[in-house]
Amino acid sequence: MEQNIRICELTPQSSDWICKTQIVDICGPTESKEKKLNYLNMILQDKEEDQIKGIVYGDDIPCYQDRIKLYHTYYIAGTPVQPSSSKYEKALHAFELVFDKKNVLLELDENDVDALPLPTKLTLTPFTDIKQQVLHATTDLNKKEFDILAIVVNCFPRRYLMSMNKWLQELIVMDIFKHTFTFTIWDQTIMDNQGNKLLQQLHEYPIILARRIGGSRYNGVSLTTKFNTTILIDPPYGQKHQLRACLLGNSLQDHGEQTNTSFTLRSTSKSRTLISIPVDEEVILIANAESQEDGQTFSIEAKISFPPDQKKYYVLVCSNCGQDVRYSIIMQIQCMNCGQHRMLIPMCRFNVNLEDSSGSTTTMIMNKEGEKLLSLTAELLLRTIFHL
Ligand SMILES: [Zn+2]
Repeated sequence: MEQNIRICELTPQSSDWICKTQIVDICGPTESKEKKLNYLNMILQDKEEDQIKGIVYGDDIPCYQDRIKLYHTYYIAGTPVQPSSSKYEKALHAFELVFDKKNVLLELDENDVDALPLPTKLTLTPFTDIKQQVLHATTDLNKKEFDILAIVVNCFPRRYLMSMNKWLQELIVMDIFKHTFTFTIWDQTIMDNQGNKLLQQLHEYPIILARRIGGSRYNGVSLTTKFNTTILIDPPYGQKHQLRACLLGNSLQDHGEQTNTSFTLRSTSKSRTLISIPVDEEVILIANAESQEDGQTFSIEAKISFPPDQKKYYVLVCSNCGQDVRYSIIMQIQCMNCGQHRMLIPMCRFNVNLEDSSGSTTTMIMNKEGEKLLSLTAELLLRTIFHL
């Protein structure tokens, strides 16, 4: 007899079971370097929100790729159950499911009363815990993976790292406790999709759910994508409203001219950029800011002014990847950075002087942060300058 089973009851010995599940994560298809095998991973959960990993291999992927959709409900049956192959510290379940052409997969309509409600279960690691775990890891750092729900407070265009012969894109992300990390995206597909979207939505402070990310000891502690990382922008989890509230309650304050205001600076060896969201970091003196590690964020309280010799408040950038050009007339280009034919668009970028009792420093302010400060959009600024 066929029996309804819960995910927590599944074992390789279970037979003729059927289970109502919802797909809450889809990763891939990815090519495994070791095995030369393509696979597609999913996370399935049941009514109790117990979770299990599902895998589709090789030739079976096309059969599933177009049929499985995030947050849809499926009855599944005839799926082999095997011991978990996870090499990571915390597997979702002792077992995992292998999907092939002999499976039964029955999709429920989204509006079906029997469809499972939107998920609520997230196993997130607070940024302070990630920091501790990465700093004090005694085992292989590669075995650690974390899920985070975070606000993207800044996002940079992708850049090429000659020394590693690789592209990367960096985000500054903040958790609900207002701790921040630099999060480096190495994955081409993620850069092309989520990375580009984040650049375009940056002024809205998008929220991301990133699953299976790694920690790195580069730049103090930073976050990094792994081969199986997924990033979802604006995930349907209620927890994001808390995060949004935490942002709204504290940010977007007016920057009164010549008054002391808190800023968060991101330090890099080449340039510094300013974020006006107060993060929960100790306020430090500008004189001590020089000694901060690369890529770190820290807060300062400073008087802000414009350098007297500054003539330009904007740059023109590729509308696809954000690469700036040394040219000030809007035109169509073939971008040297991403290779695409795109229009140049104006983006706010200028320097400001920051001064406190200990000293002063110059920092770069860009994009929507700059517009906020100038209270004009970059486009308006360009029109004003050119008297268009
Ligand atoms: Zn480009």
